[in-house]
Amino acid sequence: MRLDTDPYFSRYAARVQGMNASAIRALFALTARPEIVSFAGGNPAVEALDLEAAEHVAAAVIRETGTVALQYGIGQGRPELREQLVEVMAHEHVPAHADDLVVTAGGQQALELITKCFVDPGDVVIAEGPTYVGGLGALASHQADVRHVPMDATGMQVDALDDLLGQLQAEGRRAKLVYTIPNHQNPAGVSLSVQRRHRLAELAVEHDLLILEDNPYGLLDFAGRIQPSIRELVPDRVIYVGTVSKTFAPGVRTGWIAAPHPVRDKLVLLREAADLCPATLTQMIVERWLASQPWREQVKRFRGVYQEKAEAMLSALDEHMPEGVSWTRPSGAFYIWMTVPDGIDTSDLLAKAINHRVAYVPGRGFYADGSGGNQLRLCFSQPSPERIAEGVARFGELLQAELELVRAVYGANAPAAASRPNEGRGGVG
Ligand code: PMP
Repeated sequence: MRLDTDPYFSRYAARVQGMNASAIRALFALTARPEIVSFAGGNPAVEALDLEAAEHVAAAVIRETGTVALQYGIGQGRPELREQLVEVMAHEHVPAHADDLVVTAGGQQALELITKCFVDPGDVVIAEGPTYVGGLGALASHQADVRHVPMDATGMQVDALDDLLGQLQAEGRRAKLVYTIPNHQNPAGVSLSVQRRHRLAELAVEHDLLILEDNPYGLLDFAGRIQPSIRELVPDRVIYVGTVSKTFAPGVRTGWIAAPHPVRDKLVLLREAADLCPATLTQMIVERWLASQPWREQVKRFRGVYQEKAEAMLSALDEHMPEGVSWTRPSGAFYIWMTVPDGIDTSDLLAKAINHRVAYVPGRGFYADGSGGNQLRLCFSQPSPERIAEGVARFGELLQAELELVRAVYGANAPAAASRPNEGRGGVG
C-alpha cells in the first residue's frame, strides 16, 4: 500500500516501504478450495506421521516435565535438543558439536537472523536463481542487493559464480554471503553435483567467502543418497541451517544454525533481542520425539511417499505437456521447476489455471530481479497420485490452449515474459 491508501506509509522504516502483499497472495487463498488441485504450497505430508506417537510425546512432556516445559529457556536452545540435532546432522555426515548450534524457530528464523547478522542495506548477497522465496524475503527485509547465479540440472553453475565474483571485484564490491540450497533445491528440484560442491568450497577459500548452506531436504533423497555438505568441506566458511520441518513437522517451528563460535555468539544475542529464547515446550517435544521415536524410519516413509508422488507427476507431465514446455526431474524432496515457451507469462496465467482448478507458484517470486516470468514451481507433496495426474492433465490442456493462442497472435515471434520488479512474494513455503 502506498501513501494515498496507507496513512502510515511515510512513517515506515525504509526496509518496510518496499514490502507489498501481492495479488498472487490473494489468489493463493483460493487454492485451498477442495475442487482445486494445488501444486502451490510447499507443505510436507504430515499425514504420514504417527500421530498417536506425537500425542504421546507431547502429553508426556507436560506430564513429566511441565514446569520446565512451560518456563523460559536459554537463548542458544536446550543442550539436550542440540545433542539430538547433532545426531540428525551426523545421519547426513555433517560434522558438528552441540556447542556449535543455535536453536531457531524453523529454518526461516535462522535465515532472518543470519541476514541480520551480516547484511547492511545495499550489501551484495549472492543466491541461486531461482531461490527460496522465504530466503529472498529475509534478504529483502534487510535491503540486500541480491545477485543471482543461474542453475541447471546439477545445481548452481559455479563457473558463473566465479565470473560474478570477478565482476564484483572489478566493481570494488564484495559479497557478504553466498546463499545455497545444495540438496533438492526449492524451487528448482535439483541438487548440486559433488564436483561443483568441491569447486564451491575452493572458491570460498580463493575469494574469502562465507557460504550460507540451507539444508532442509538433504534426508529426503529418494534413493537415500547422502551428498557431502559444504560445511564438511570448508567448516570455517559455512553457516549451516537445518530444520525438522521436512523430517518431523513444520508446526513445531524448530530449526537450527551451526556456525563458527564467534558468529554463534552474535546470533544468540540477535535471537535474544528478537524473542528471548526458543519455545521450551516445542524444543522438549522435538527432543523427546528424536530420542524416543524411530525417526530414521519415519524419514524413509516420507521418502517413499514423495517418490511415489514424484513418479506420478513426472509420468503425467510426460503424457500431457505440450511441446516446448520443459521441467526438472527431482531425485528427492518435492519440487519440479517448469519453463514454458515465450508468449506465456506464468503470473498472468495463474488466474486462468485456478479457473481450470489447478494451481502452481509463478516463477517471478523466486528471483529478486523480477525475472522468471516464463517459469513456475510445481509442488507434488500434498495431492494424491490420482489427483496429481488429474491436475497435470488440466494444466496440460490449459497450456496447449494458451500456446495455440500465442501462435495465432504472434506466429513464431512471441515476446519473452518481461521482468516485473517487486511482485511480492509472501505466503508460500
Ligand atoms: N529453506 C528452504 C529452502 C525451505 O524450502 C524452507 C521451507 N519451505 C525453509 C528454509 C524454512 O522452513 P522452516 O522455517 O519450516 O524450517
